[in-house]
Amino acid sequence: MSRPPSVERLLAAVRRRAGARDHEALVAAARGEIAAERARLVDGDRPRPLTELAAALVARLASLEAGGPPTRVINATGVIVHTNLGRAPWPEAAIRAAEAATRDALFLELDPATGRRGRRFRVAEEHLVALTGAEDGFVTNNCAAALVLAVGLAGRKGVVIGRGELVEIGGGVRIPEIVRRAGGRLVEVGTTNRTRVADYEGPLREGRAGMVLRVHPSNFTMSGFTEAPDAAPLAALAHAHGALVVDDLGSGALLDTAAFGLAHEPMPAERLAAGADLVLFSGDKLVGGPQAGLVVGRADLVARLRRDPLARATRPDKATLAGVAATLGLYRAGLATREIPVWRMIATPVEALRSRGKSLAAGLTGAVCVPLAATVGGGSLPGETLASYGLALAVQSGATANRLLAALRTGEPAVVGRIEDGRVVLDLRTVDPAADADLACAVAAALGASGVRG
Ligand SMILES: *Cc1c(COP(=O)(O)O)cnc(C)c1O
Repeated sequence: MSRPPSVERLLAAVRRRAGARDHEALVAAARGEIAAERARLVDGDRPRPLTELAAALVARLASLEAGGPPTRVINATGVIVHTNLGRAPWPEAAIRAAEAATRDALFLELDPATGRRGRRFRVAEEHLVALTGAEDGFVTNNCAAALVLAVGLAGRKGVVIGRGELVEIGGGVRIPEIVRRAGGRLVEVGTTNRTRVADYEGPLREGRAGMVLRVHPSNFTMSGFTEAPDAAPLAALAHAHGALVVDDLGSGALLDTAAFGLAHEPMPAERLAAGADLVLFSGDKLVGGPQAGLVVGRADLVARLRRDPLARATRPDKATLAGVAATLGLYRAGLATREIPVWRMIATPVEALRSRGKSLAAGLTGAVCVPLAATVGGGSLPGETLASYGLALAVQSGATANRLLAALRTGEPAVVGRIEDGRVVLDLRTVDPAADADLACAVAAALGASGVRG
Protein backbone atom coordinates (compact mmCIF):
# COMPACT_ATOMS: atom_id res chain seq x y z
CA MET A 1 0.00 0.00 0.00
CA SER A 2 1.43 3.41 -0.90
CA ARG A 3 1.64 6.16 1.69
CA PRO A 4 0.16 9.66 1.51
CA PRO A 5 2.61 12.53 1.15
CA SER A 6 4.00 14.32 4.20
CA VAL A 7 2.40 17.49 5.54
CA GLU A 8 5.42 19.47 4.31
CA ARG A 9 5.08 18.21 0.73
CA LEU A 10 1.35 18.91 0.65
CA LEU A 11 1.85 22.40 2.10
CA ALA A 12 4.58 23.11 -0.44
CA ALA A 13 2.17 22.10 -3.19
CA VAL A 14 -0.57 24.53 -2.06
CA ARG A 15 1.64 27.34 -0.75
CA ARG A 16 0.86 29.82 -3.50
CA ARG A 17 -2.85 29.03 -3.86
CA ALA A 18 -3.64 28.98 -0.14
CA GLY A 19 -2.88 32.68 0.29
CA ALA A 20 -2.06 34.28 3.62
CA ARG A 21 -3.42 32.15 6.43
CA ASP A 22 -2.52 31.25 9.98
CA HIS A 23 0.16 28.59 9.75
CA GLU A 24 -1.28 26.31 12.45
CA ALA A 25 -4.71 26.25 10.82
CA LEU A 26 -3.11 25.45 7.47
CA VAL A 27 -1.17 22.56 8.99
CA ALA A 28 -4.31 21.23 10.70
CA ALA A 29 -6.26 21.32 7.41
CA ALA A 30 -3.40 19.58 5.60
CA ARG A 31 -3.32 16.88 8.28
CA GLY A 32 -7.09 16.41 7.82
CA GLU A 33 -6.67 15.94 4.07
CA ILE A 34 -3.81 13.48 4.59
CA ALA A 35 -5.85 11.50 7.13
CA ALA A 36 -8.71 11.32 4.60
CA GLU A 37 -6.26 10.09 1.96
CA ARG A 38 -4.89 7.47 4.35
CA ALA A 39 -8.42 6.22 5.03
CA ARG A 40 -9.05 5.96 1.28
CA LEU A 41 -5.87 3.93 0.80
CA VAL A 42 -6.87 1.57 3.62
CA ASP A 43 -10.17 1.08 1.77
CA GLY A 44 -8.15 0.00 -1.28
CA ASP A 45 -8.80 3.17 -3.33
CA ARG A 46 -6.19 4.37 -5.80
CA PRO A 47 -3.72 6.94 -4.45
CA ARG A 48 -4.47 10.49 -5.55
CA PRO A 49 -1.59 12.42 -7.16
CA LEU A 50 -0.17 15.32 -5.16
CA THR A 51 -1.89 17.90 -7.41
CA GLU A 52 -5.28 16.32 -6.69
CA LEU A 53 -4.63 16.28 -2.94
CA ALA A 54 -3.56 19.91 -3.11
CA ALA A 55 -6.77 20.82 -4.96
CA ALA A 56 -8.80 18.99 -2.29
CA LEU A 57 -7.00 20.91 0.44
CA VAL A 58 -7.69 24.23 -1.30
CA ALA A 59 -11.37 23.24 -1.64
CA ARG A 60 -11.45 22.28 2.06
CA LEU A 61 -10.07 25.71 3.01
CA ALA A 62 -12.50 27.49 0.66
CA SER A 63 -15.45 25.68 2.23
CA LEU A 64 -14.30 26.67 5.73
CA GLU A 65 -13.80 30.22 4.52
CA ALA A 66 -17.32 30.38 3.09
CA GLY A 67 -18.68 29.33 6.48
CA GLY A 68 -19.46 25.80 5.27
CA PRO A 69 -23.07 26.80 4.58
CA PRO A 70 -25.49 23.95 5.27
CA THR A 71 -26.65 21.90 2.29
CA ARG A 72 -29.64 23.51 0.63
CA VAL A 73 -32.71 21.34 1.11
CA ILE A 74 -36.04 21.52 -0.71
CA ASN A 75 -38.78 20.34 1.65
CA ALA A 76 -41.15 18.38 -0.59
CA THR A 77 -42.53 16.29 2.29
CA GLY A 78 -45.84 18.13 2.45
CA VAL A 79 -45.23 18.73 6.16
CA ILE A 80 -45.16 22.51 6.45
CA VAL A 81 -43.48 22.77 9.87
CA HIS A 82 -41.02 19.87 9.70
CA THR A 83 -38.98 19.63 12.91
CA ASN A 84 -36.24 17.49 11.32
CA LEU A 85 -35.87 20.02 8.50
CA GLY A 86 -35.49 23.05 10.74
CA ARG A 87 -39.18 23.91 11.26
CA ALA A 88 -40.29 27.30 9.92
CA PRO A 89 -38.22 28.95 7.19
CA TRP A 90 -37.80 32.58 8.33
CA PRO A 91 -39.60 35.45 6.62
CA GLU A 92 -37.33 37.75 4.57
CA ALA A 93 -37.88 40.56 7.07
CA ALA A 94 -36.62 38.36 9.90
CA ILE A 95 -33.54 37.34 7.93
CA ARG A 96 -32.74 40.98 7.19
CA ALA A 97 -33.33 42.02 10.81
CA ALA A 98 -31.08 39.25 12.14
CA GLU A 99 -28.38 40.20 9.69
CA ALA A 100 -28.53 43.85 10.69
CA ALA A 101 -28.55 42.93 14.39
CA THR A 102 -25.39 40.88 14.02
CA ARG A 103 -23.39 43.12 11.70
CA ASP A 104 -23.24 46.16 13.97
CA ALA A 105 -23.74 47.11 17.56
CA LEU A 106 -27.40 47.53 18.50
CA PHE A 107 -29.47 48.85 21.39
CA LEU A 108 -29.85 45.40 22.89
CA GLU A 109 -30.02 46.36 26.56
CA LEU A 110 -29.35 50.08 26.35
CA ASP A 111 -32.18 52.59 26.35
CA PRO A 112 -31.40 55.13 23.60
CA ALA A 113 -33.38 57.86 25.42
CA THR A 114 -31.63 57.65 28.78
CA GLY A 115 -28.36 55.98 27.86
CA ARG A 116 -28.95 53.62 30.77
CA ARG A 117 -29.38 49.91 30.85
CA GLY A 118 -32.91 48.98 29.74
CA ARG A 119 -35.01 45.94 28.99
CA ARG A 120 -33.42 43.46 26.63
CA PHE A 121 -34.71 44.30 23.15
CA ARG A 122 -38.25 45.25 24.17
CA VAL A 123 -39.62 45.33 20.59
CA ALA A 124 -40.63 41.67 20.42
CA GLU A 125 -42.38 41.92 23.79
CA GLU A 126 -44.32 44.99 22.69
CA HIS A 127 -45.49 43.13 19.59
CA LEU A 128 -46.63 40.20 21.76
CA VAL A 129 -48.64 42.56 23.95
CA ALA A 130 -50.22 44.23 20.92
CA LEU A 131 -51.05 40.93 19.21
CA THR A 132 -52.53 39.07 22.18
CA GLY A 133 -53.89 41.78 24.47
CA ALA A 134 -51.70 40.42 27.27
CA GLU A 135 -50.41 42.65 30.07
CA ASP A 136 -46.85 41.69 29.18
CA GLY A 137 -44.77 39.37 27.04
CA PHE A 138 -41.43 37.63 27.28
CA VAL A 139 -39.18 35.74 24.86
CA THR A 140 -37.09 32.68 25.77
CA ASN A 141 -35.00 30.24 23.80
CA ASN A 142 -37.87 27.87 23.02
CA CYS A 143 -41.24 26.80 24.37
CA ALA A 144 -39.69 24.04 26.48
CA ALA A 145 -37.59 26.69 28.25
CA ALA A 146 -40.71 28.80 28.79
CA LEU A 147 -42.35 25.76 30.39
CA VAL A 148 -39.36 25.22 32.70
CA LEU A 149 -39.50 28.87 33.81
CA ALA A 150 -43.28 28.85 34.24
CA VAL A 151 -43.25 25.67 36.36
CA GLY A 152 -40.95 27.50 38.78
CA LEU A 153 -43.88 29.78 39.68
CA ALA A 154 -45.60 26.88 41.43
CA GLY A 155 -42.92 26.97 44.12
CA ARG A 156 -43.17 24.06 46.52
CA LYS A 157 -46.79 23.39 45.64
CA GLY A 158 -47.87 20.83 43.09
CA VAL A 159 -48.52 21.27 39.38
CA VAL A 160 -51.82 19.64 38.56
CA ILE A 161 -52.27 18.22 35.07
CA GLY A 162 -54.90 16.06 33.38
CA ARG A 163 -53.77 12.56 32.47
CA GLY A 164 -54.85 13.09 28.85
CA GLU A 165 -52.26 15.89 28.57
CA LEU A 166 -49.18 13.93 29.68
CA VAL A 167 -47.80 13.95 26.15
CA GLU A 168 -44.57 13.17 24.39
CA ILE A 169 -44.06 16.00 21.91
CA GLY A 170 -41.55 14.21 19.66
CA GLY A 171 -37.89 13.28 19.71
CA GLY A 172 -38.50 11.45 22.99
CA VAL A 173 -39.33 14.72 24.77
CA ARG A 174 -42.02 14.19 27.40
CA ILE A 175 -43.83 17.09 29.03
CA PRO A 176 -44.14 15.40 32.46
CA GLU A 177 -40.38 14.78 32.49
CA ILE A 178 -39.66 18.44 31.71
CA VAL A 179 -41.99 19.50 34.52
CA ARG A 180 -40.31 17.16 37.02
CA ARG A 181 -36.83 18.18 35.93
CA ALA A 182 -37.87 21.81 36.39
CA GLY A 183 -38.63 21.01 40.03
CA GLY A 184 -42.40 20.73 39.59
CA ARG A 185 -44.27 18.19 41.69
CA LEU A 186 -46.79 16.62 39.31
CA VAL A 187 -50.28 15.92 40.55
CA GLU A 188 -52.11 13.88 37.93
CA VAL A 189 -55.89 13.94 37.70
CA GLY A 190 -58.53 12.33 35.50
CA THR A 191 -57.97 9.46 33.10
CA THR A 192 -56.27 9.11 29.73
CA ASN A 193 -59.45 9.63 27.74
CA ARG A 194 -61.66 11.64 30.10
CA THR A 195 -60.78 14.45 32.46
CA ARG A 196 -63.35 16.87 33.90
CA VAL A 197 -63.11 20.15 35.77
CA ALA A 198 -64.30 18.33 38.92
CA ASP A 199 -61.21 16.10 38.77
CA TYR A 200 -59.03 19.11 39.59
CA GLU A 201 -61.07 20.09 42.61
CA GLY A 202 -59.54 17.70 45.18
CA PRO A 203 -55.87 18.71 44.86
CA LEU A 204 -56.84 22.41 44.60
CA ARG A 205 -59.16 22.38 47.63
CA GLU A 206 -56.63 20.47 49.72
CA GLY A 207 -53.99 23.06 48.85
CA ARG A 208 -51.79 20.46 47.14
CA ALA A 209 -51.54 22.40 43.89
CA GLY A 210 -50.28 25.90 43.19
CA MET A 211 -50.68 25.63 39.44
CA VAL A 212 -52.97 24.10 36.87
CA LEU A 213 -50.98 23.24 33.76
CA ARG A 214 -52.82 22.76 30.49
CA VAL A 215 -50.85 21.13 27.69
CA HIS A 216 -51.90 21.04 24.05
CA PRO A 217 -52.06 17.38 22.93
CA SER A 218 -49.69 18.46 20.18
CA ASN A 219 -49.29 15.59 17.76
CA PHE A 220 -52.14 13.24 18.59
CA THR A 221 -55.93 13.21 18.60
CA MET A 222 -58.35 11.29 20.71
CA SER A 223 -61.74 10.25 19.46
CA GLY A 224 -64.61 8.24 20.81
CA PHE A 225 -65.44 8.34 24.52
CA THR A 226 -63.39 11.42 25.43
CA GLU A 227 -63.76 14.56 27.50
CA ALA A 228 -61.45 17.46 28.29
CA PRO A 229 -62.26 20.39 30.58
CA ASP A 230 -63.21 23.76 29.10
CA ALA A 231 -60.58 26.40 29.73
CA ALA A 232 -62.79 29.03 31.41
CA PRO A 233 -64.47 26.98 34.18
CA LEU A 234 -61.16 25.26 34.96
CA ALA A 235 -59.42 28.64 35.28
CA ALA A 236 -62.23 29.90 37.52
CA LEU A 237 -61.83 26.87 39.80
CA ALA A 238 -58.04 27.26 39.95
CA HIS A 239 -58.32 30.97 40.78
CA ALA A 240 -60.95 30.31 43.46
CA HIS A 241 -58.30 28.22 45.22
CA GLY A 242 -55.48 30.70 44.63
CA ALA A 243 -53.74 28.59 41.97
CA LEU A 244 -52.20 29.85 38.74
CA VAL A 245 -53.23 28.67 35.28
CA VAL A 246 -50.47 28.08 32.74
CA ASP A 247 -51.46 27.05 29.22
CA ASP A 248 -48.74 25.41 27.10
CA LEU A 249 -50.14 25.76 23.57
CA GLY A 250 -47.08 24.25 21.88
CA SER A 251 -47.57 25.71 18.42
CA GLY A 252 -50.17 28.37 19.12
CA ALA A 253 -51.46 30.44 16.22
CA LEU A 254 -51.66 34.19 15.71
CA LEU A 255 -54.04 33.81 12.74
CA ASP A 256 -57.20 31.70 12.73
CA THR A 257 -56.39 28.42 10.98
CA ALA A 258 -60.14 27.86 10.42
CA ALA A 259 -60.04 30.61 7.79
CA PHE A 260 -57.90 28.27 5.67
CA GLY A 261 -60.15 25.22 5.79
CA LEU A 262 -58.40 23.69 8.78
CA ALA A 263 -59.64 23.01 12.29
CA HIS A 264 -59.21 25.89 14.71
CA GLU A 265 -55.81 25.87 16.41
CA PRO A 266 -55.96 27.57 19.82
CA MET A 267 -54.84 31.21 19.83
CA PRO A 268 -53.00 32.79 22.77
CA ALA A 269 -55.49 35.67 23.07
CA GLU A 270 -58.39 33.23 23.45
CA ARG A 271 -56.67 31.35 26.24
CA LEU A 272 -55.87 34.58 28.06
CA ALA A 273 -59.51 35.61 27.70
CA ALA A 274 -60.52 32.21 29.10
CA GLY A 275 -58.54 32.96 32.25
CA ALA A 276 -55.03 31.61 31.68
CA ASP A 277 -52.47 33.58 33.68
CA LEU A 278 -49.67 32.68 31.29
CA VAL A 279 -49.79 31.25 27.78
CA LEU A 280 -46.68 29.66 26.26
CA PHE A 281 -46.07 28.95 22.57
CA SER A 282 -43.26 28.35 20.10
CA GLY A 283 -41.71 30.89 17.76
CA ASP A 284 -40.93 28.40 15.01
CA LYS A 285 -44.13 26.42 14.67
CA LEU A 286 -47.27 28.16 13.37
CA VAL A 287 -45.91 31.57 14.35
CA GLY A 288 -43.47 30.92 11.52
CA GLY A 289 -40.31 32.62 12.73
CA PRO A 290 -37.09 31.82 14.62
CA GLN A 291 -36.86 29.19 17.35
CA ALA A 292 -38.12 30.90 20.48
CA GLY A 293 -40.47 30.45 23.40
CA LEU A 294 -43.12 33.14 23.52
CA VAL A 295 -44.77 33.90 26.85
CA VAL A 296 -47.76 36.20 27.30
CA GLY A 297 -49.87 36.95 30.34
CA ARG A 298 -50.00 38.70 33.70
CA ALA A 299 -47.38 41.41 34.14
CA ASP A 300 -46.46 40.39 37.71
CA LEU A 301 -45.84 36.78 36.64
CA VAL A 302 -43.86 37.79 33.55
CA ALA A 303 -41.76 40.02 35.83
CA ARG A 304 -41.05 37.02 38.05
CA LEU A 305 -39.99 34.95 35.03
CA ARG A 306 -37.67 37.76 33.95
CA ARG A 307 -36.04 37.79 37.40
CA ASP A 308 -35.63 34.01 37.57
CA PRO A 309 -31.92 33.09 37.48
CA LEU A 310 -32.82 30.41 34.93
CA ALA A 311 -34.03 33.14 32.56
CA ARG A 312 -30.38 33.94 31.98
CA ALA A 313 -29.73 30.33 31.02
CA THR A 314 -32.63 30.28 28.58
CA ARG A 315 -32.36 33.68 26.93
CA PRO A 316 -32.25 34.00 23.15
CA ASP A 317 -29.41 35.78 21.40
CA LYS A 318 -29.66 39.10 19.58
CA ALA A 319 -30.13 37.60 16.11
CA THR A 320 -33.06 35.52 17.34
CA LEU A 321 -34.62 38.45 19.16
CA ALA A 322 -34.38 40.64 16.07
CA GLY A 323 -35.86 37.83 13.93
CA VAL A 324 -38.72 37.24 16.37
CA ALA A 325 -39.51 40.96 16.50
CA ALA A 326 -39.51 41.20 12.70
CA THR A 327 -41.76 38.14 12.36
CA LEU A 328 -44.27 39.43 14.91
CA GLY A 329 -44.16 42.84 13.23
CA LEU A 330 -45.45 41.26 10.02
CA TYR A 331 -48.64 40.19 11.83
CA ARG A 332 -49.14 43.75 13.03
CA ALA A 333 -48.48 45.03 9.53
CA GLY A 334 -51.25 42.74 8.26
CA LEU A 335 -48.84 40.91 5.95
CA ALA A 336 -48.53 37.53 7.65
CA THR A 337 -50.05 35.42 4.88
CA ARG A 338 -48.01 37.21 2.24
CA GLU A 339 -44.66 37.41 4.01
CA ILE A 340 -44.43 34.50 6.45
CA PRO A 341 -43.55 31.32 4.54
CA VAL A 342 -45.51 29.01 6.86
CA TRP A 343 -48.72 30.99 6.30
CA ARG A 344 -47.99 31.46 2.62
CA MET A 345 -47.80 27.68 2.28
CA ILE A 346 -51.04 27.22 4.21
CA ALA A 347 -52.82 29.92 2.19
CA THR A 348 -51.72 28.82 -1.30
CA PRO A 349 -54.83 27.88 -3.32
CA VAL A 350 -54.79 24.24 -4.36
CA GLU A 351 -55.33 25.27 -8.01
CA ALA A 352 -51.98 27.07 -8.01
CA LEU A 353 -50.30 23.87 -6.81
CA ARG A 354 -52.03 21.85 -9.51
CA SER A 355 -50.84 24.10 -12.32
CA ARG A 356 -47.27 24.11 -10.96
CA GLY A 357 -47.41 20.31 -10.73
CA LYS A 358 -48.67 20.02 -14.31
CA SER A 359 -45.97 22.23 -15.78
CA LEU A 360 -43.24 20.46 -13.80
CA ALA A 361 -44.53 17.03 -14.85
CA ALA A 362 -44.69 18.14 -18.49
CA GLY A 363 -40.94 18.76 -18.45
CA LEU A 364 -39.95 15.53 -16.71
CA THR A 365 -40.02 11.98 -18.09
CA GLY A 366 -41.31 9.61 -15.42
CA ALA A 367 -43.18 12.19 -13.34
CA VAL A 368 -46.92 12.78 -13.17
CA CYS A 369 -48.93 15.42 -11.35
CA VAL A 370 -51.06 13.88 -8.59
CA PRO A 371 -53.37 15.13 -5.82
CA LEU A 372 -51.86 14.81 -2.35
CA ALA A 373 -52.66 15.76 1.24
CA ALA A 374 -50.27 18.09 3.08
CA THR A 375 -50.14 18.60 6.84
CA VAL A 376 -49.21 21.54 9.04
CA GLY A 377 -46.91 19.55 11.35
CA GLY A 378 -45.00 21.00 14.28
CA GLY A 379 -47.35 19.49 16.82
CA SER A 380 -50.32 21.45 15.58
CA LEU A 381 -53.60 20.33 14.05
CA PRO A 382 -52.98 16.58 14.30
CA GLY A 383 -55.00 14.60 11.79
CA GLU A 384 -55.83 17.70 9.73
CA THR A 385 -54.82 17.86 6.07
CA LEU A 386 -54.67 20.49 3.35
CA ALA A 387 -55.51 19.50 -0.21
CA SER A 388 -52.36 19.63 -2.29
CA TYR A 389 -50.71 18.59 -5.53
CA GLY A 390 -47.28 17.31 -6.35
CA LEU A 391 -45.24 14.93 -8.44
CA ALA A 392 -45.38 11.14 -8.32
CA LEU A 393 -42.25 9.54 -9.72
CA ALA A 394 -42.52 6.22 -11.52
CA VAL A 395 -40.63 3.38 -9.85
CA GLN A 396 -40.66 -0.38 -10.43
CA SER A 397 -40.49 -1.60 -6.83
CA GLY A 398 -40.15 -0.65 -3.20
CA ALA A 399 -36.39 -0.99 -3.46
CA THR A 400 -36.20 1.46 -6.37
CA ALA A 401 -38.47 3.86 -4.47
CA ASN A 402 -36.04 3.89 -1.55
CA ARG A 403 -33.08 4.29 -3.89
CA LEU A 404 -34.73 7.20 -5.65
CA LEU A 405 -35.61 8.84 -2.34
CA ALA A 406 -31.97 8.48 -1.26
CA ALA A 407 -30.72 9.90 -4.57
CA LEU A 408 -33.00 12.92 -4.10
CA ARG A 409 -31.77 13.40 -0.52
CA THR A 410 -28.12 13.38 -1.54
CA GLY A 411 -28.54 15.56 -4.63
CA GLU A 412 -27.71 19.24 -5.06
CA PRO A 413 -29.95 20.81 -3.89
CA ALA A 414 -31.14 17.96 -1.68
CA VAL A 415 -34.83 17.12 -2.03
CA VAL A 416 -36.78 15.39 0.73
CA GLY A 417 -39.94 13.63 -0.37
CA ARG A 418 -41.89 10.65 0.89
CA ILE A 419 -43.14 7.26 -0.24
CA GLU A 420 -46.86 6.87 -0.66
CA ASP A 421 -48.53 3.78 -2.13
CA GLY A 422 -45.13 2.53 -3.23
CA ARG A 423 -44.38 5.69 -5.25
CA VAL A 424 -42.03 8.54 -4.45
CA VAL A 425 -44.13 11.69 -4.08
CA LEU A 426 -42.99 15.31 -3.87
CA ASP A 427 -45.58 17.66 -2.39
CA LEU A 428 -45.51 21.17 -3.84
CA ARG A 429 -47.33 22.88 -0.97
CA THR A 430 -44.10 22.99 1.02
CA VAL A 431 -41.93 24.05 -1.93
CA ASP A 432 -41.31 27.73 -2.60
CA PRO A 433 -42.42 28.36 -6.22
CA ALA A 434 -39.07 30.11 -6.77
CA ALA A 435 -37.42 26.70 -6.23
CA ASP A 436 -39.48 24.85 -8.89
CA ALA A 437 -36.77 25.04 -11.57
CA ASP A 438 -34.13 23.70 -9.16
CA LEU A 439 -36.54 20.99 -8.07
CA ALA A 440 -37.01 19.90 -11.67
CA CYS A 441 -33.24 19.67 -12.22
CA ALA A 442 -32.75 17.74 -8.97
CA VAL A 443 -35.52 15.29 -9.88
CA ALA A 444 -34.14 14.71 -13.37
CA ALA A 445 -30.66 14.10 -11.93
CA ALA A 446 -31.95 11.72 -9.25
CA LEU A 447 -34.04 9.74 -11.75
CA GLY A 448 -30.84 9.30 -13.77
CA ALA A 449 -28.54 8.56 -10.79
CA SER A 450 -30.89 6.06 -9.17
CA GLY A 451 -31.04 4.03 -12.37
CA VAL A 452 -34.79 4.51 -12.55
CA ARG A 453 -34.28 6.57 -15.70
CA GLY A 454 -31.03 6.38 -17.65
C1 LIG B 1 -43.59 21.73 20.53
C2 LIG B 1 -44.15 21.80 21.90
C3 LIG B 1 -43.36 22.24 22.96
C4 LIG B 1 -41.91 22.56 22.80
O1 LIG B 1 -41.71 23.67 22.02
P1 LIG B 1 -40.22 24.06 21.57
O2 LIG B 1 -40.37 25.45 21.10
O3 LIG B 1 -39.84 23.08 20.53
O4 LIG B 1 -39.37 23.94 22.78
C5 LIG B 1 -43.93 22.31 24.21
N1 LIG B 1 -45.21 21.97 24.40
C6 LIG B 1 -46.00 21.54 23.40
C7 LIG B 1 -47.42 21.18 23.68
C8 LIG B 1 -45.48 21.44 22.11
O5 LIG B 1 -46.27 21.03 21.10
